[in-house]
Amino acid sequence: MNAIIIGILLPLLGTMLGSAFVFFMKKEIPDRMQKTLLGFASGVMVAASVWSLLIPSIEMAGERVLPAAIGFLAGIAFLLLIDELTPHLHNGALSALPSASS
Ligand SMILES: [Zn+2]
Repeated sequence: MNAIIIGILLPLLGTMLGSAFVFFMKKEIPDRMQKTLLGFASGVMVAASVWSLLIPSIEMAGERVLPAAIGFLAGIAFLLLIDELTPHLHNGALSALPSASS
């Protein structure tokens, strides 16, 4: 039971701490450090998805890669479709508009 509580609280505290840094220091973090932290976060997310989702799905399929590969590609296609269908702005899009800079 303690392991479950620690397993829930540790990621929760890490996420809260990370988001608190971004929320309270976003104007004070140097641009280069911000890019480095974004790269670090993306590396953590890619590693987590590979080791926690992709590799277990391959192992569950008995070393066959095809079901996992189909699901992997379907997930990419799904996110591309969502990106295409939902209205949103990309990072830096507002500063590229002529009316936003004047
Ligand atoms: Zn987009």
